[in-house]
Amino acid sequence: ASMRDSRIDKTKTVCTYCGVGCSFDVWTKGRDILKIEPQQEAPANGISTCVKGKFGWDFVNSEERLTKPLIREGQMFREAEWAEALDLIKRKFTGIKEEHGADALSFISSSKCTNEESYVMQKLARGVIGTNNIDNCSRYCQSPATMGLFRTVGYGGDSGSITDIQQSELIITVGSNTSESHPVLSTRVKSSHKLHAQKLIVSDLRKHEMAQRSDLFIRPESGTDLIWLSAVTKYIVDQGWEAESFLEENVNGVEHYKETLAPYTMEYAEEMTGVSQDDLIRTAKMIHEAGSVCILWAMGVTQHQGGSDTSTAISNLLLITGNYGRPGTGAYPLRGHNNVQGASDFGSMPDRFPGYQFVSDDEVRNRFEEAWEAEIPKEKGLNNHEMVEAIHEGKLKSMYLKGEDMGIVDSNINYVHGAFEKLDFFVVQDLFLTTTAQFADVVLPASPSLEKDGTFTNTERRIQRLYQALEPLGDSRPDWKIIMDIANQLDAGWKYNHPSEIMAEAASLTPLFAGVTYEKLEGYKSLQWPVHADGTDEPMLFADRFPFDDGRARLYPVEWTEPVQYEEEYDLQVNNGRLLEHFHEGNMTYQSEGITRGTPRAFVEVSPQLAEERGLSDGTSVRLVSPYGAVKLPCLVTERVQKKEIYIPLNDDGDGAVNRLTSSYADKDTDTPAYKEVRVRMEVLEEK
Ligand code: SF4
Repeated sequence: ASMRDSRIDKTKTVCTYCGVGCSFDVWTKGRDILKIEPQQEAPANGISTCVKGKFGWDFVNSEERLTKPLIREGQMFREAEWAEALDLIKRKFTGIKEEHGADALSFISSSKCTNEESYVMQKLARGVIGTNNIDNCSRYCQSPATMGLFRTVGYGGDSGSITDIQQSELIITVGSNTSESHPVLSTRVKSSHKLHAQKLIVSDLRKHEMAQRSDLFIRPESGTDLIWLSAVTKYIVDQGWEAESFLEENVNGVEHYKETLAPYTMEYAEEMTGVSQDDLIRTAKMIHEAGSVCILWAMGVTQHQGGSDTSTAISNLLLITGNYGRPGTGAYPLRGHNNVQGASDFGSMPDRFPGYQFVSDDEVRNRFEEAWEAEIPKEKGLNNHEMVEAIHEGKLKSMYLKGEDMGIVDSNINYVHGAFEKLDFFVVQDLFLTTTAQFADVVLPASPSLEKDGTFTNTERRIQRLYQALEPLGDSRPDWKIIMDIANQLDAGWKYNHPSEIMAEAASLTPLFAGVTYEKLEGYKSLQWPVHADGTDEPMLFADRFPFDDGRARLYPVEWTEPVQYEEEYDLQVNNGRLLEHFHEGNMTYQSEGITRGTPRAFVEVSPQLAEERGLSDGTSVRLVSPYGAVKLPCLVTERVQKKEIYIPLNDDGDGAVNRLTSSYADKDTDTPAYKEVRVRMEVLEEK
C-alpha cells in the first residue's frame, strides 16, 4: 500500500442527498470510507445528519460502479477507451448538427452534480453546439415553486436560512413530508416547536409524522390547495387583518388582487377541499395572531397541473400578511436534491443563462457571446418535457444526459422509453448502468461527489464547497472534466485546471454571483446568494427591497385548475413520495448496505377502510392499473392514509416504479409533470 493508502484523511464535504445541504468531514483510509463526522461550524446542520448522510456512502465503492466508457454493439455494450468514446461522440454530434441543425441536439444536466458542472454543461450546449436545448431535473419538482416566487417576489429561492425557520412563531407546511424528505431541517422545526412554543399547521393528504405533531392538521382533497389558501387569504382581507402599511410601502396590485379573491368564500372552499370552515377560520386566525409566519412547501404542491399557481397563492398569502423580509417569515420551497437549486442557478435551463438572466435579452446574450467567442441562439430551447415530445415527433435526434435516471423519474415512463429508442444518438453519463443508460449508445463513467472538488447550493441558497476525498474509481472522471473533454474534442479549446476557474468565469458573467470566490468558501465557510461584487451576501432576502425595477413585490392573481379527470373505474387516488431511508428511486441508497438492511422495497399504503372493503392485509399482493401502465406491489395497511387514497414510495428499481402509472399531464406554466394527479384501479392478486 502507498503512503496514501495507509494514512487516515479527513476531508470536508457536503452531503450528496437532499437539499438541506448538511456538511461534514469524511474520514477515509485509501478507498475505505471510515466515518462521517459533522462539525459544529457546519452552517445548515451543526452536528446533525440523517441516516442517508451518515450511512449512505457504500455506493461510492460499489462493484456496480462504471469504471470504463461503454459503447453499444447491437444489444450489448463493450468497454472502450476514452479516446474512442470521445471520438465517436464528436463524429455523431458533428454529423447530426450538419444534417439537422444544432437544435436537433439536447442536453440534460444533473442536480447531483456541482454548480461548476451545470455551468460547463450549458456552456457546451450553447457555446459549442449552439442550442438552448438544455434543462435539468428541477423541471420534475421545483420549477413551479420558482415560478410562483418569480411572479411575486422576484427571487426563486428560500427567503431566509434554515435557522430563521426556527425563529418563526407559526410554520405552515403544505404538501411536504418534511421529516422523511428533509430530515435535519425537520429536526430543527421539531425542536423549536417544543422550545419556543412555535405553532405548526400541516396541510397534507397523508397523516405523516409532522402531521401527527402539528397543532392543526388539515387534509384537503388532492389538488385543491390553491382553493383553501385563497379562501384563508380572502378571510384575512375580509376581517381587515391584512398588513396595510407593509402593502402600501412594498407591494403592487393590491386592490385588483383582492377583487380576484371574490369566488373563494368559506362555503366554496369547504365544498371543494373537504376541509371544514372551522379549520379554515382557525388557520386564518393563527396566521393573524402570529408575529411571524413562514410557509414550507414541496412536491405535494408543485406536481400538479396548477403547481405554479398554487405556489403563487402561497406567496400571495405571505405578502398580504406582511410575512416577508423579517426573521422567521417568508417562503421556503424545500429543494429536493443536494444541488437542485444550483443546477438552475448556474444556467441549465432552456431560457436562462446562469443567475436567471434571459437568453432573449440582447445585452446579456452579447456578454456571453463575447466571453465565449460563440454565437448563441436568441430563442429559448426545449425543456425536458418538450424534448420527449420532440423526439417522438422526429425533430430531436440526440441527447446527452448526465447524472439523471430519466427513464425512471420522468412521468409516464413507458412513453419516455419509447422516445429513448427513437434517438439516433444517446449519451448517458452516470455512476451506474441505470435503467436510462441501458438505452444509450455511449455510456460515460462519472465520479461521485467524494471524488471531486466543486460547490453545491442548498435549499437556503447557500453555496458550499466540497473537497475531493478519493481518487476517481478506475477510469471514471469528474463530470466537469468529461464535459471539457467533449468540448475540446469539438475544438473548443477550454483550459480549466480546476473548478475554481469555472466559478471565477461564472461569477464574472453573472451579477447574482459577482462576489463568489473559492477563497470566500474555504472549509466550512459559505455564501448565500445574491453575492455582491464587494463579497457581501444576503442570508435574508427582501429586507430592504424586492428585486424588481421599482423595488416592490407584486400580488399575482391566480385561478384554480381542476386536476386530471379519470374514468370512473380508476377509483383510487395515488399519492407518491420519499421514504426516510431511500433517496428517490434509490439507485444510490440501494447500493448502501447500512441502509438496505431492514428497509423494504416499494409497497403500497392502503387505509384500514380500503383494506376492510377489499379484503387486504399486510403483504397482500395487488396489481394497480392506470391508463398508462401497471405495477404489482405488496400492501401495507396504515392509518397514515384514509379512504380511497393510497401511497406509493418512489424507491424501487423493479416492478414497482410509480412512474409506470403516471401520465404526461403537466403544470401548465412550467411543464413539471403532474405526478400527483394519478388514479388507478386495483386487482387483488393473492389473499393472504
Ligand atoms: Fe444529507 Fe439531507 Fe440527510 Fe442532511 S438531511 S444528511 S443533506 S440527506
